[in-house]
Amino acid sequence: MIQKVSHIGIAVKNLQDAIAVYQKLGLEVEGIETVESQKVRVAFLPVGKEVRIELLEPTSEDSPIAKFIEKKGQGIHHIALATDNIENELKLAEEQELSPLDKVPRQGAHHASIGFLHPRAMKGVLLELCQEKDG
Ligand code: ZN
Repeated sequence: MIQKVSHIGIAVKNLQDAIAVYQKLGLEVEGIETVESQKVRVAFLPVGKEVRIELLEPTSEDSPIAKFIEKKGQGIHHIALATDNIENELKLAEEQELSPLDKVPRQGAHHASIGFLHPRAMKGVLLELCQEKDG
């Protein structure tokens, strides 16, 4: 079952620069980690207790985030919804023809299991489904 908005992913060219901007709003960095498989460095900034802003900086030119920025510029890259059963959610998405990019969950940042649904199915939004480690 979909439970809440988990985070909003924002593609940025420079992580330190982006962090500095969001800190001006009073948000604080909870952690920074590199996700090798996605070629991104990610900073998490909690907004309240449940939602995070996830700033995504490409670590190489062939990173999906680098390609996104090249095409569309910096900005919202994806919205992530939390689920309590990622396997089931992806199976359901497949049945409903929601163009899941992942048939089985993969490892995302923050030890979460994640899967993406293609923007062409989701009205222009790249949608991430994620199951947090303890959720
Ligand atoms: Zn994400």
